[in-house]
Amino acid sequence: MTVVELIEEKRDGGELEADEIRWLISAYTADEVPDYQMAALLMAIYQHGLTPDELAVWVESMLHSGDTLDFGDIDKPKIDKHSTGGVGDKVSIALVPMVAACGLAIPMISGRGLGHTGGTLDKLEAIPGFRTQVDPSEYKHLLKTVGMVMGGQTETLVPADRRLYALRDVTGTVPSIPLISSSIMSKKLAEDVDGLVLDVKVGRGAFMRDLDDARSLAETMVGIGKRHDTRTVALLTAMDEPLGTAVGNANETAECIELLRGDAPPDITEITYRLGEEMLVLGGLAPSHSEARALLEDAVTSGKALDKFAEAIVAQDGDPRVLEDLSVLPQPPEFVEFDAKEDGFITQCHAGSIGMAAVRLGAGRLQKEDEIDPSVGIWVFAKEGERIERNQPLARVGWREGARLGAALEELENAWKIGPEPPSAKPLILGEVR
Ligand code: URA
Repeated sequence: MTVVELIEEKRDGGELEADEIRWLISAYTADEVPDYQMAALLMAIYQHGLTPDELAVWVESMLHSGDTLDFGDIDKPKIDKHSTGGVGDKVSIALVPMVAACGLAIPMISGRGLGHTGGTLDKLEAIPGFRTQVDPSEYKHLLKTVGMVMGGQTETLVPADRRLYALRDVTGTVPSIPLISSSIMSKKLAEDVDGLVLDVKVGRGAFMRDLDDARSLAETMVGIGKRHDTRTVALLTAMDEPLGTAVGNANETAECIELLRGDAPPDITEITYRLGEEMLVLGGLAPSHSEARALLEDAVTSGKALDKFAEAIVAQDGDPRVLEDLSVLPQPPEFVEFDAKEDGFITQCHAGSIGMAAVRLGAGRLQKEDEIDPSVGIWVFAKEGERIERNQPLARVGWREGARLGAALEELENAWKIGPEPPSAKPLILGEVR
C-alpha cells in the first residue's frame, strides 16, 4: 500500500492493518513519509478515531520507534505523572522534587507547549542553563544519584512521538482521544515505570471540553497501562480557568518555586498535593492518602523538596541561584495591566483564551519552528467567584513586542465575564479512573 492509500482508507472510515501501522510509524520516524502526508492521516484519525486494535498497535509502534529505558536495577519505586495539558498547569515542576524528596524515583519525559497549553520542558528551560536533553544512560545515572530527571524525548526515546507531537501542534489534530492517549502512554511506557498517575484535564482550557470525553480518555489510558502491566490511576481535574496565577514559562517556574516554599495559590497547591498523594500511595511509600499528605507537607516545610530541586537543577546544568532569587529567571521588558470594565463577580475566567493570549505574546508556538520567549506571560489576578471593581486589574501582561501584545490583548477581551451574582463553586477534582 502507498501512504496515499492509507490516508484514503482512514479518511473513508476504514481500519488499518497492524503491519500498515507498524510500517507507517517507522517510515515517518525515518523521514521517509513527509509531514504533509502524516498531517492528512492525523486529520483522518482525528475525524474517525482508531479502533481498539489499531490503537494497541499504534501505541506499540510508537513505544518501539526508538530505545526504551531500563531501570531494573534501581531499587526505589519508579512512579511518574503526566497531565493531558492545561493552562498554568505547572504542577510537574514542583511535584517531582516533592515526591523525589519522599523517596520515589521519577524518570519524567516531558513535552513542550502544545496549542494553547504550556509544556514542562519550555518552562524548565526558563532556568538559565537548564538542559532538558538527557540521553538514556544519563537518565539512569540521574535517577540513581538524584532520584529524579526531567527531560525531553531524545533522538532515540520515542522519536515517533516527538515528531508527531510537533506536527499535531500546528495542524489542529491535538484533541483526539487515540492521539493523546498514544502520545502520553508511549512516552510513559518507555520510561520503565512501576506506576503512573495521570491528570486528565477537563474544561475550557483543556483538550477535552466535557467530562464524558475526559473520562473516556482516562479509561483509554488506564486500559493501555493495564495492558502493559503498569499500574495507572487517572484523576479528572477542572481546567476551566488557569491553575494558579502565572501563565507563561519563566513566571510559571517562579510559581513552582513559591509552591516549594509553601507559598502558592490554593488551587495549584491542592492539585499538586493530591497528585503527590496518589504517587506515594501507588509507589507503596504511604499506606493512605492522609499519610502521603503528611509526608509531602513535611518535604515542603523541612525544605527537603526545595533542596531536591536544587540538586536536580545542578545535575542538569541549570543555575540553582534561581531558588533564592527569582529575578535570575528571564523577565519581560514591559508590563501592562488589563483592567475590569465593570463592577461585579467574575463568572468566567476562560483558560483557553488566556492560554492563547500567552501564545500570542510569544510564550507558545503558532508554527513548529517558532522560538518561544521564556520571559513573557500573564499573571491572572481575578478568578471565578471573586468580586471585582471597575478599573481593578484582572491580569498583568508581561510583553516584548507591540504587535504581539495587541494580539494578546484581543484574546483577553473575551476571557473574563463579570455578572451581578457569583457563580456556584466548582470542585477541582471531578472524578477518578483506576
Ligand atoms: N500531552 C502529551 O504528551 N501528548 C498529547 O498528545 C497531549 C498532551
